[in-house]
Amino acid sequence: RDLPGDPETAPGVRQVHGALYSRVDPTPVAAPALLAHSAEMAAALGFSEAEVASAEFAQVFAGNVLLPGMQPYAANYGGHQFGAWAGQLGDGRAISLGEVLADDGRRWELQLKGAGPTPYSRSADGRAVLRSSIREFLCSEAMHHLGVPTTRALSLVGSGEAVVRDMFYDGHPQAEPGAIVCRAAPSFIRFGNFELPASRGDTALLKTLVDFCIRRDFPHLGEPGERVYGQWFAEVAQRTATLMAHWMRVGFVHGVMNTDNLSILGLTIDYGPYGWVDNYDPDWTPNTTDAGRRRYRYGQQPQVAYWNLSRLAGALSPLIATELLQDGLRRYVEAYNDAERDAIAAKLGLRECGDEDVALMQELRGWLQANEVDMTIFYRALADIDVAAAAPDPSPLAEAYYDPTRAVEAEPALRDWLARYAARSREDGSSAAERVARMNAANPRYVLRNYLAQEAIDRAEQGDPAGVRDLLEVMRRPYEDQPGREAFAAKRPDWARERAGCSM
Ligand code: AMP
Ligand code: MG
Ligand code: MG
Repeated sequence: RDLPGDPETAPGVRQVHGALYSRVDPTPVAAPALLAHSAEMAAALGFSEAEVASAEFAQVFAGNVLLPGMQPYAANYGGHQFGAWAGQLGDGRAISLGEVLADDGRRWELQLKGAGPTPYSRSADGRAVLRSSIREFLCSEAMHHLGVPTTRALSLVGSGEAVVRDMFYDGHPQAEPGAIVCRAAPSFIRFGNFELPASRGDTALLKTLVDFCIRRDFPHLGEPGERVYGQWFAEVAQRTATLMAHWMRVGFVHGVMNTDNLSILGLTIDYGPYGWVDNYDPDWTPNTTDAGRRRYRYGQQPQVAYWNLSRLAGALSPLIATELLQDGLRRYVEAYNDAERDAIAAKLGLRECGDEDVALMQELRGWLQANEVDMTIFYRALADIDVAAAAPDPSPLAEAYYDPTRAVEAEPALRDWLARYAARSREDGSSAAERVARMNAANPRYVLRNYLAQEAIDRAEQGDPAGVRDLLEVMRRPYEDQPGREAFAAKRPDWARERAGCSM
């Protein structure tokens, strides 16, 4: 670890060698105000609603007050960004407060994002703007309720301070409200935490981290040692594959799949310029800075995760035999293919997915892409198709088109596909109720569409955080039809068509 010198001059931006983290306290903010919180996370951590509503809660989760036992630190990690090694990167604006052991025995690390500079802040301010904090807060919890592995969010606290950002569209600095999210996870360790000591040839430090990570985050594997190292890497590969299959299932696009943004536990981490697919399009990316290369487009995510795992394997090669690392990479491919088949079966309402079903799904995806069809609305409505009919009526799917003229042109191909899908569903032999239950558990009615988050942000920037809370409330039960909340399941409006996510 890296201890700061004079606390008056800390954190002191620097290259930190020989340490996995640096002790650094959050920098207090002017006027903390709780804007939203996750009731589930608060309960998991043992906070009563009265405690959450107290002034002290906002003070603590803004970083103004430390509770007894808190020993804040920033982790030291590097990463490959957009395919190139980028050296030491972080944590430039995340400060962990410590760990909580919950009553149920689960361990949660609590981390403030936007709590001020650290030794890793480089030329930046360590702060986060309200809009990006809202996006991280909402999506963390939405993903959890969708059943996607993710870091969680306890609280969203307005700082009462302005943060200045260069706006990408005109290059001029603009003052915006600042905020701090308290996120929670069993571990925030990233691939990049291993890559940095490896890049510096510090095998002893690398081993310290691997052993720590296995003991704390993978205790079921037993005491670290050469055999356990291989099993550990294979489990990381397996978890990453599962995560990718979930992202693909729900239409989530991370947008910055750099190795510093991949969690060792296979959690979705670092909600930056992420987005949700509206019309099904494997080439879509929410990251405007990635627009030319499209490295991080929707359909590319499983391949990029594999590339990132390969970088992790490279970093671990001083400790783990090449054959074991190759086994782990193979495990990724197998696990992804298995998980993808499970997802196909669930999305189509089948008991299991055979080779012909993969082909049937491929054909459907091609059709969805060619005809500008909303992914979420389509799959949800597919459960309403009467598969007992030899030639099912496609009208339940009509709402999913963005372009009414496509609806006419696309209908013959859709009818043809539906007839084959219906025949396959009858052969599958599930009852109608089983089929619908299976589909509605895999095809959400509600996802955190980009325009919904944007509307909540616009309101919050005007001083009204109620839209954030309303949206969170809907996202708590994404697989249930919620009468009266149909508007939250609506297609992207025209104004939001080319509007991407935001990253800063
Ligand atoms: P990202 O591409 O968002 O994952 O960010 C890469 C690194 O930049 C992270 O490790 C952060 O520590 C750092 N970073 C991003 N924004 C800021 C900021 N406003 N202040 C300090 N560090 C930042
Ligand atoms: Mg990051
Ligand atoms: Mg980020």
